[in-house]
Amino acid sequence: MPTYQAPLQDYKFIIEDVLNTYQDYATIPQFSDVNSELMDSILSEAGRFAEQEIQPLNQPGDIEGCRVENGEVFTPKGYKEVSQKYLEGGWTQLSESTQYGGQGLPYLLNGAIGEMNLSACAAFAIYSTRDGSIAAIEKNASQDIKDKYLPKLVEGIWGGPMCMSEPHCGSDLGLLRTKADPQSDGSFSISGTKMFITGGDADLGENSIMLVLARIQDAPQGIKGISLFIVPKFLVNEDGSLGERNNTSVGSIEHKMGLHGSATCVMNYDNAKGFLIGTENKGMSAMFAMFAMVNRSRFLIGQQGTALAAVAYQNAAQYALERVQMRSLTGPKNPDKAADSIIVHPDVRRMLLTQRSFVEGSRALNLYVAKLFDELDHHPDVERKKHCQSLLDLLTPICKGFNTEMGWECVNHGLQVFGGHGYIRENGMEQFVRDARAAAIYEGTTGIQALDLLARKVLANKGETLQIFTGEINQFCQENKDHEMVGKLATELKAATAQWLAITMNVGMAAMKNPNDLGAASVDYLMYSGYVTLAYFWVRMAKAAADKKQSTPFTQAKLQTAQFYFDRILPRTATLEKTIQAGSDSLMEMNEEAFVL
Ligand SMILES: Cc1cc2nc3c(=O)[nH]c(=O)nc-3n(C[C@H](O)[C@H](O)[C@H](O)COP(=O)(O)OP(=O)(O)OC[C@H]3O[C@@H](n4cnc5c(N)ncnc54)[C@H](O)[C@@H]3O)c2cc1C
Repeated sequence: MPTYQAPLQDYKFIIEDVLNTYQDYATIPQFSDVNSELMDSILSEAGRFAEQEIQPLNQPGDIEGCRVENGEVFTPKGYKEVSQKYLEGGWTQLSESTQYGGQGLPYLLNGAIGEMNLSACAAFAIYSTRDGSIAAIEKNASQDIKDKYLPKLVEGIWGGPMCMSEPHCGSDLGLLRTKADPQSDGSFSISGTKMFITGGDADLGENSIMLVLARIQDAPQGIKGISLFIVPKFLVNEDGSLGERNNTSVGSIEHKMGLHGSATCVMNYDNAKGFLIGTENKGMSAMFAMFAMVNRSRFLIGQQGTALAAVAYQNAAQYALERVQMRSLTGPKNPDKAADSIIVHPDVRRMLLTQRSFVEGSRALNLYVAKLFDELDHHPDVERKKHCQSLLDLLTPICKGFNTEMGWECVNHGLQVFGGHGYIRENGMEQFVRDARAAAIYEGTTGIQALDLLARKVLANKGETLQIFTGEINQFCQENKDHEMVGKLATELKAATAQWLAITMNVGMAAMKNPNDLGAASVDYLMYSGYVTLAYFWVRMAKAAADKKQSTPFTQAKLQTAQFYFDRILPRTATLEKTIQAGSDSLMEMNEEAFVL
């Protein structure tokens, strides 16, 4: 049975020593009282909840799965009770606006707590987050709608599933067919079928406030004719009480590879009552509403990569200390035993340190991104807000695409450390592999994140956004190039950053001549960007560790892991540099028919 320990020491180190959070929050009036004591106590209690309440749901929930009876979805045993405790603890309200019953604390807390919950039980944790839906409503809906729906969403007693995908469309939402017919009372009649809807329905809340994408009659074809609606399972009366049952139903739930405790629903809308968010027939503004939601949701999915890799790493590291097989290449390390622990073997260490360097590097990236959301939402300086928006635009697809791909690699390393015992259900490592796989698919596949990064976020503005981030990296490298312990890493990082810009320029030029070169380069470009981004956070962590007054096992491990990252992970960019610039000829030459020869 796998175990989980909340990484509280690492959070404290990243939040305080690496990101200098409290110094920065002092410039934001809303957070001027936020300090180490407050954050530590909240995170420590959240860690306890994740370890003691959520984690025990993980393996039994995977075995039991969800079921539908008489059109109602039932989650595995224990989910409802723990969900109730989670709501009673006020955990869904932490960083939400005080105007709607939230506590107005930093989103950074959600970043850390989100990771812990996902590590403890990913299938359960997905139900408890409504950040994206709340952001979409808060930023785009009329005041009436906000007042009506947000307090209960913030309180957590209503769910907020995102209903975009349909059987024939996922990546290409322009193909969607769900219809919205205007009604005389100002509402819309929604008809159609959505597929793959996470928590489309569940027995955890009193109501389900579905955010549904649909096409209003006579709207333009494609992506420009899409609007966003709220479609509640139970209609909500003017006084906020629940009214009649809307014409929505669960067609079925999917039987899937992992995340068995998370109900993935086919949702049917049969002239269901819906309410427009944003402006009628303004497809693009509805999409902007969606992007407000999508940015936060993509960030959350990116965290799944970190979270599942983290728990897989913890269990693999413990196992590697205990499992004895063969002798060290340099002679017995434990002559009293029949064999040495497998942790003596360089290849086992390669797997463990690959996991560790990804987990801690991406954790620093995630918390940095969560802090950007805080500054975007609350910083008094408009220029600073713009700066944060640019960084978020660039880093969201990296968080989502790179973290989930690396997360998948790392849970596989975790399983491999266990050998055959990793392949057996009882030890829990194969569940992490199955659960982690979906994260590289939903909220836009890695291919879609890569196109978003390269085409929309980088090339569309001629690399301006990228240069904002590389400018920050270069400034850091310049300031630390002579640092006794990390100066060499900073110099290597500076070179990798210069190469990142050069490759971007080359791909941009190639894409102007042949657009397929852009598509051919995109996923490798995403991964390249991720490796350099994590290298930045590794040098920042190494510097913070080196600058600590006292060297401890924790700070030494940070410095050693940083060195490992630069020796054995960052060099992956050398291959990617070649494949990114290899063009598209060898991909596109083969006839379509030849693929099935
Ligand atoms: C467990 C789970 C939960 C989900 N939860 C939700 C949810 O809550 N709400 C919701 O709306 N949806 C949800 N989804 C759906 C998910 O978002 C889609 O599956 C995903 O966006 C991909 O769409 P698709 O499956 O239709 O694949 P397709 O769009 O058919 O893509 C197939 C392949 O083609 C590639 N591809 C497509 N277009 C391009 C392109 N232009 N360039 C390069 N490659 C391309 C893709 O990368 C992919 O590899 C969920 C899916 C799963 C598995």
